[in-house]
Amino acid sequence: MSTGDANFDVVIVGGGPVGAALGALLRHAPAGRAPRVLLLERALPSVDVHPAPDLRVFALSRASERILRAIGAWELLAAEPGALAAYERMHVWPMRGQARGEGSLSFDAAELAEPDLGHIVTNSALQRAALAAFEAAGGCVQQGSVQSLEFLEGRVRLRSTVGVVNAALLVGADGGRSVVRAQAGLGLESEDYGQLALVCNVQSEQPHEHTAWQRFLGEGTLALLPLGSGESSIVWSLPRARALELLALPAEEFSAELTAASDRVLGTLTLVSERLQFPLRRASAVHYVRERCALVGDAAHSVHPLAGQGVNLGFLDAAALAETLAAGRTSGEDPGALRLLRRYERWRKSENESLSLALSLLNRFLAFGDGELGRWAERGMGWVGRSAVLRRPFAERALGLSGELPQVARRA
Ligand SMILES: Cc1cc2nc3c(=O)[nH]c(=O)nc-3n(C[C@H](O)[C@H](O)[C@H](O)COP(=O)(O)OP(=O)(O)OC[C@H]3O[C@@H](n4cnc5c(N)ncnc54)[C@H](O)[C@@H]3O)c2cc1C
Repeated sequence: MSTGDANFDVVIVGGGPVGAALGALLRHAPAGRAPRVLLLERALPSVDVHPAPDLRVFALSRASERILRAIGAWELLAAEPGALAAYERMHVWPMRGQARGEGSLSFDAAELAEPDLGHIVTNSALQRAALAAFEAAGGCVQQGSVQSLEFLEGRVRLRSTVGVVNAALLVGADGGRSVVRAQAGLGLESEDYGQLALVCNVQSEQPHEHTAWQRFLGEGTLALLPLGSGESSIVWSLPRARALELLALPAEEFSAELTAASDRVLGTLTLVSERLQFPLRRASAVHYVRERCALVGDAAHSVHPLAGQGVNLGFLDAAALAETLAAGRTSGEDPGALRLLRRYERWRKSENESLSLALSLLNRFLAFGDGELGRWAERGMGWVGRSAVLRRPFAERALGLSGELPQVARRA
């Protein structure tokens, strides 16, 4: 479909989970006040009922669950067999500690009076559900790639592979290599961690107990996330050279290395999928907004995956931007006005940057800490682990319930 020179209130570039959720949140405005929203995605997910298994999974926080419930995407995920896998416990432990013993940090949903600590979902199921929720709310989806942007008086003009559109506001939700961020001149500060994350699925000798496991290794981090199939998803962050060595190993030897790195917490681990690699970097757009343009999700920031926060932060960006625009509509403000967009930037940039810094410190002192500071960090983790009071803020962070939450992510 080509819209030619169509006009929209908001055009979102990027129909990943965050862009699609933002579109749906905008369309869920009170009757008659929903903006006209176009979402441009260069590669829409296949409608094939038997898509290839997706190895990219996310741990969704409670805050993300609430946002997805508000747009009707959660019900779609819940209706898809095996799409959501709840996890009830989490054990984090350092190189010299034991998963459930001295020095570990453990959270239990029952102890926190929560039904679970979060859900594991694949990227493709999440994207499909968010896009379906957007379309069900009357949003318009186009398959195409952005080519150029022009910032004109009172509007932004976007040329894509499928036509030209004008909008009062353009949102870049186009991921870590955002073309919108580059073309809008919003700038990027980034730091290469010099690490790769290896991602694959394993079968474990012992059941995963609906528990998320994470071990700091002294040369990286290993996470085992429980899947509905009984398998576990692995995210193993390592220095690049070591990761490449492991990728080159035959499956059996790789499984043996993985089993040793996991401290045999689930017994022998057996590789049951291909292995994917993701380069890791910390990045933040210098500006999240300019007149007529805003960034959300990975287009605005990339954080270390060791706490599984990336897409969760993106959903909070989407909800905060939607709430800011809704407040602007109520007071008759132009959705592309810099004054309004700055409110969103002030809200989310500091929250995202402080979490990103905390993750970098965890990576430095726990994942790679073998000196005196590393030992202090391990001891600190042990102290936190032994005190229910000290554990509480960490649990709230894991549930995504700390910081200044958008209305839609708060407890009803
Ligand atoms: C190894 C690893 C493990 C992770 N684990 C977790 C986890 O457990 N929990 C978690 O919360 N996060 C995790 N993350 C982070 C998470 O992957 C990202 O934060 C999340 O995918 C960001 O979503 P997004 O919608 O902002 O961007 P993306 O998912 O990157 O989506 C961007 C979309 O924009 C489209 N696009 C790009 N350019 C254009 C263009 N020019 N025109 C049109 N469309 C375009 C793309 O096709 C894509 O669909 C992990 C990351 C890594 C690397």
